[in-house]
Amino acid sequence: MAEPTAEQLDLLLDLQATDSRVRKLRHQLDDLPEQQQLDEAADRASELEREHDTVRDELDRTGAQQRKLEREIAVLSERRDAERSRLYDGSVGNARQMKAIEAEVNTTERRIAEHEDQLLEVMEQVERLETRSAELDAETEHTRQRIEELTTARDDAAKELLAELGELEAARIRQANGLPDGLRERYEQVSARTGGAGVGKLVDNACTACRIQLSMADVGELLAGPPLTTCPQCRRLLVVPA
Ligand SMILES: [Zn+2]
Repeated sequence: MAEPTAEQLDLLLDLQATDSRVRKLRHQLDDLPEQQQLDEAADRASELEREHDTVRDELDRTGAQQRKLEREIAVLSERRDAERSRLYDGSVGNARQMKAIEAEVNTTERRIAEHEDQLLEVMEQVERLETRSAELDAETEHTRQRIEELTTARDDAAKELLAELGELEAARIRQANGLPDGLRERYEQVSARTGGAGVGKLVDNACTACRIQLSMADVGELLAGPPLTTCPQCRRLLVVPA
């Protein structure tokens, strides 16, 4: 194989730059901050929905409790009124019977009072649940808007990355086609083996791919050798500038 020309080596380094940028863009696409924020917002929306379901169930339960107590209080009050009216309508003349009715009225009054205390507690609970429900409504709406905004932002961010990726892929084809087959294949093989860069350049006594500082002896040997060789440290292709 003929030694590559200086232009071909420049093109090889351009191809390496394109491939590095493509890898970085793919990683960014997978890892867009907008995507992560969107995932978090969606998690929060699910949490809110679950809590809202619980609150709605409790509201149903306490609402039913409230109506039951109200019905019982109405029934007890009616009974008390009926008993009380018997005390005054002259239908009962017997003093012992009157006393029994009075005792019955008092008992019913106590039961009404107990029911009313319970009702008050239940109504306070209903109020707390309704307040929480309204808070959840507001936060759900806020989260919904945020998800909408983040979806747009994510799509915009991805659009820019995808557009740049498209341009780079076109550039990559031009660059790869400009290289002799043998050189391109060597580059592809080394890239595949390292899962990253396939070629470095000797700059400031180090290879730009692995950035390990080379000894003066290694550098002297490289400078005396061919313009394309192998990095003594990382075994990638190494371009040695003239
Ligand atoms: Zn190296």
